[in-house]
Amino acid sequence: LAAAAQSATWTFVDGDWNEGNVAILGPRSHAMWLGTSVFDGARWFEGVAPDLELHAARVNASAIALGLAPNMTPEQIVGLTWDGLKRFDGKTAVYIRPMYWAEHGGYMGVPADPASTRFCLCLYESPMISPTGFSVTVSPFRRPTIETMPTNAKAGCLYPNNGRAILEAKARGFDNALVLDMLGNVAETGSSNIFLVKDGHVLTPAPNGTFLSGITRARTMTLLGDYGFTTTEKTLSVRDFLEADEIFSTGNHSKVVPVTRMESRDLQPGPAAKKARELYWEWAHSTSAG
Ligand code: PMP
Repeated sequence: LAAAAQSATWTFVDGDWNEGNVAILGPRSHAMWLGTSVFDGARWFEGVAPDLELHAARVNASAIALGLAPNMTPEQIVGLTWDGLKRFDGKTAVYIRPMYWAEHGGYMGVPADPASTRFCLCLYESPMISPTGFSVTVSPFRRPTIETMPTNAKAGCLYPNNGRAILEAKARGFDNALVLDMLGNVAETGSSNIFLVKDGHVLTPAPNGTFLSGITRARTMTLLGDYGFTTTEKTLSVRDFLEADEIFSTGNHSKVVPVTRMESRDLQPGPAAKKARELYWEWAHSTSAG
């Protein structure tokens, strides 16, 4: 398969490690047909995999939220990850993606049959890129609510919505979308959580069930708080962001990255984002390797 040629890839499925982008779904697989799948994303770089246990726990919680029956413990996922990473000798950075999906459906095929839950762990080489900044624009697309989609899960079926928000933003010349919730408050970007800084205070949207309250977001708040910044979760409007001194985003992929343009307004990467980035890297290197 084409993606296999892109970078070193190993997938653990059904008790074995397989090289490459191994084919594991059929046209009759429930996940392929109706989209019942969950995943998580963590990073290994420079010998450490920060917050890997939290990512492993979250993939199990996501599976349960979709009615799947996870058949691995978070500890087993962590152990398997460190085992698989041995296959990446000489590589500097690897993406860690555990997934669960439903192979069969229940009543009329629609709900997932939890007894058919399957697991795989895909590891692939992915260099740590650290963008110096990115631009955002307010998206016409909104985050669904918990009543309309399983927003408490990191589920594949949520991502076509993020995808169309990012595509629409790119078509207007921006790197990413600033996605609002159904009440019109800022939720997150198409691929990360969002923060603003005003008069030295660090603010981020309060979780209200519509967006992923990220692991990197929580870690960054703790680190900035311990350092001495006030960090507050609060309902935030587009205006709050337009009037911010700094904007930055967090996510496991690129960690902490400043926003350097919102709509027509240029922003400089500011001291809080810079400090958050430094603190994250320092903390990450202090975590233990498996
Ligand atoms: N929001 C969305 C939509 C994401 O895809 C991600 C990345 N997984 C995040 C936020 C950040 O979450 P985390 O820090 O747990 O990676």
